[in-house]
Amino acid sequence: MKAAVFHKIGDIQVDTVDDPRIEQSRDAIIRVTSTAICGSDLHIYDGFIPQLKNEVLGHEFMGIVEDVGSEVTNLKKGDRVVVPFTVACGKCYFCQKNLQMHCENSNPEHYGPDGGLLTEKGGGLFGYTDLYGGYNGGQAEYVRVPYADYGLHTVPESLKDEQVLFLTDIFPTGWSSIEWGELKGGETVAIFGSGPVGLMAQKSAWIQGAARVIAIDPVNYRLEKARRVNNVETLNPDEVDVIEAIRQMTNGRGADLCVDAVGMEADRSLLEKAKAVINFEKGTPKVLELCFQAVRRGGIVSVVGVYGTPFDNISIGRMFDKGITVRFGQSFVHKNMSHLLDLVVQGKVVLDDIISHTLPLADASKAYDMFKKKQDDCTKVVLKP
Ligand code: NAD
Ligand code: ZN
Ligand code: ZN
Repeated sequence: MKAAVFHKIGDIQVDTVDDPRIEQSRDAIIRVTSTAICGSDLHIYDGFIPQLKNEVLGHEFMGIVEDVGSEVTNLKKGDRVVVPFTVACGKCYFCQKNLQMHCENSNPEHYGPDGGLLTEKGGGLFGYTDLYGGYNGGQAEYVRVPYADYGLHTVPESLKDEQVLFLTDIFPTGWSSIEWGELKGGETVAIFGSGPVGLMAQKSAWIQGAARVIAIDPVNYRLEKARRVNNVETLNPDEVDVIEAIRQMTNGRGADLCVDAVGMEADRSLLEKAKAVINFEKGTPKVLELCFQAVRRGGIVSVVGVYGTPFDNISIGRMFDKGITVRFGQSFVHKNMSHLLDLVVQGKVVLDDIISHTLPLADASKAYDMFKKKQDDCTKVVLKP
């Protein structure tokens, strides 16, 4: 079969690889009908999440069940399913606590992003390097899905792939980032990053009761998209002092909830242009730091943007003084998929309006380059195997 394979930093090729086959009794083989490129894939592309072996990429995918193992009795050949990006067994300590992103059976060898210090096992992801279990991903014609009797959702025939594909990751991720903010109604939410995850957080903030949603991004076409599809206010850190602007919009206090939907950003010059910060020697050259400055006293900062470095220098004094609550991590996909699918079915949210490009899988290399370089107003690419 054909698949998008990571070779080395900046080098992704569509190769012919072995077809996946049932290896365990709880496996399924899915024929992929749609798959998307994520900002998280760019961390592998950029070398921030290291991968030494060639691996099939892709953790946002859906398709048709082609084959099932003997223990998978709730799915059959021909079912159309969306697949959570976190591999989870449904039976271990963490899965039982609805912390499927830490499933112990999905990554028993876990050695952590620091290459040794974090020895707790757990956390498997499709197409996300040997650090996260070494599973081949879904930017391919077929993919093996372990524990397929748990967590997959069949989707109504009336909905197109594009309407439900983002239930696999970025909608639940945007949703989690707002849910962690515990909105009661009427809050101001500032969302740093208006890429696909930021756009999903904006949608989620409205649904969860925000009165004001502010999107921050240095790329104007992404802000324009945010205004058009999500009707939010926008700030460009190249044009205004965002911290000052957010304070002015909130009676000098700051936002109730700040979301970091950026994470590791390869292009440091973007950050250097952000006027409100930053002493690179002493401070944290990160959007995270902007969030600590932009949030109000007693407020909440949600960090869904991915960070991979084991240690960092963050403004702990400011966090203490302001009494900031911070939540980090992989999002809650398993917990949220079913009720978020309901929102789509009921027409309460539209997800496919963020897609900028639909391309054949054969163009994956070009698509990664375009998404990375933000060419041709690229916001979200869907690949069709
Ligand atoms: P993306 O790269 O398309 O979007 C990032 C956006 O941040 C870009 O639009 C960029 O212009 C903007 N940005 C850069 N510097 C900025 C700054 N100083 N201030 C404000 N905005 C800035 O990626 P994406 O697909 O939207 O993903 C965003 C992040 O979320 C990535 O780090 C990704 O790995 C992560 N992610 C996490 C989870 C999770 O479960 N926690 C799931 C999916 C994605
Ligand atoms: Zn993703
Ligand atoms: Zn588990």
